[in-house]
Amino acid sequence: MVLGGGESGLGAAILGKAKGFDVFLSDRGKLNDHYRKELTERGISFEEEMHTDALIFVADIVVKSPGIPDTSPIVVGLNDRRIPVISEIEFAARYTDAKLIGITGSNGKTTTTLLTYHLLKNAGFNVGLAGNIGDSFAWQVAEKHYDYYVLEISSFQLDNIIDFKPAIAVLLNITPDHLDRYGYSFQNYVDSKFNIVRNQTAECHFIYFDDSEVITSELVKRSTSSQLWPVSISHTVEKGAYLEGNQLISKIKDSVFSQDFESLPIQGPHNAINALTAIAIAQLAGVEADQIREGLVTFRNAPHRLEKVAHIEGVVYVNDSKATNVDSVFYALGSFNEPIILIAGGVDKGNDYSQILDLVKEKVKGLIILGPKYEKLKHYFEGIVPQVYITQDIQDAVAQGKKWAVPGDVVLLSPACASFDLFKNYEDRGDQFKNAVEKLANS
Ligand code: ADP
Repeated sequence: MVLGGGESGLGAAILGKAKGFDVFLSDRGKLNDHYRKELTERGISFEEEMHTDALIFVADIVVKSPGIPDTSPIVVGLNDRRIPVISEIEFAARYTDAKLIGITGSNGKTTTTLLTYHLLKNAGFNVGLAGNIGDSFAWQVAEKHYDYYVLEISSFQLDNIIDFKPAIAVLLNITPDHLDRYGYSFQNYVDSKFNIVRNQTAECHFIYFDDSEVITSELVKRSTSSQLWPVSISHTVEKGAYLEGNQLISKIKDSVFSQDFESLPIQGPHNAINALTAIAIAQLAGVEADQIREGLVTFRNAPHRLEKVAHIEGVVYVNDSKATNVDSVFYALGSFNEPIILIAGGVDKGNDYSQILDLVKEKVKGLIILGPKYEKLKHYFEGIVPQVYITQDIQDAVAQGKKWAVPGDVVLLSPACASFDLFKNYEDRGDQFKNAVEKLANS
């Protein structure tokens, strides 16, 4: 039984069929045309816009989409009947001998996953990219043969694992996010993230951010037999990776790697963490230093992540639409030495702005609040930033940014919030920002 017919559900159904299961897929919503066609052509039974209990509660095993919460009636019904519910990564991992590199964290997953994939691929490894990114892991396991997979893994995928055991596990950070899915308990979310090492044994590696108090105190509480590789941007480590001045240094086993961080196309302290992590992974996988060096400078990050959009009259416009929580804004503000005009706002997921208060005081010369729910941001920052402007229109927001800016300033879209009030998703918000900046440049 596959619950949910998105990218991961479709992949799970295809893999299930390939492995001889009698597969049925059920989606409470409408399937997209392409996926419906794939299922039909492959002779996989499915239903859409409904869940039929009589068809679902007979399953031996259920692969659940990460988007479906445990509190939904269908999952409650499965749990009551003790029918095992697993995630797509658990299911797919059962059918591959490839070495799995699993990357999780509240922020930085996509960047680190893409960079790691690029370093391995550039070195000639037979490597696949999957998880929350690109094509479904299960689908690739059904139809491709890779020696390595770099997997971007969300906490929702980790909630429903049983034996999933990555050879190299990565935990970038844990800061409050998605708490609505974890009974508003931060510890539940932490436990979910730590599932990434749950099944690891002595030959496995665990790379983690040593500057995170949450991670290090949790490690002390838990017994893990994995080989530990801390990453830090605040102190040196004997083994692991760290930033010293501008040098990225990684000491893994007998090899010491170093490179000037400023030679990389990605910037900001958070990207130093992501780069150090990817370097450590590449070393553990056996990539030569010269190839790592080459990969680091040829990397191109996905859009909407501190993406420089334009220089107009001496002002830089930056799209960080993917910053949908406070921690990512913290790193975005830390990435600039110039005065910042910050465009923020949207759907608040229970934000606590105290983490960015000092940085905002120091760097933000104007705050533009975008979206109908502006009160919380306004109350928090009025009197702290010299000027606040409220708007529901992204073109107007950008125009206001231009009015306030003088040469040498940065106009930064880094919203700290989800985008579903005015936009389809964060990509749409970022694209509309880029269009608005383009219009400004031509006006
Ligand atoms: P994710 O896939 O986990 O959402 P991304 O790589 O897409 O992560 O980055 C999302 C946002 O988080 C970026 O816009 C950036 O501002 C911030 N970010 C990236 N890496 C880190 C990190 N290591 N720690 C904290 N924030 C980060």
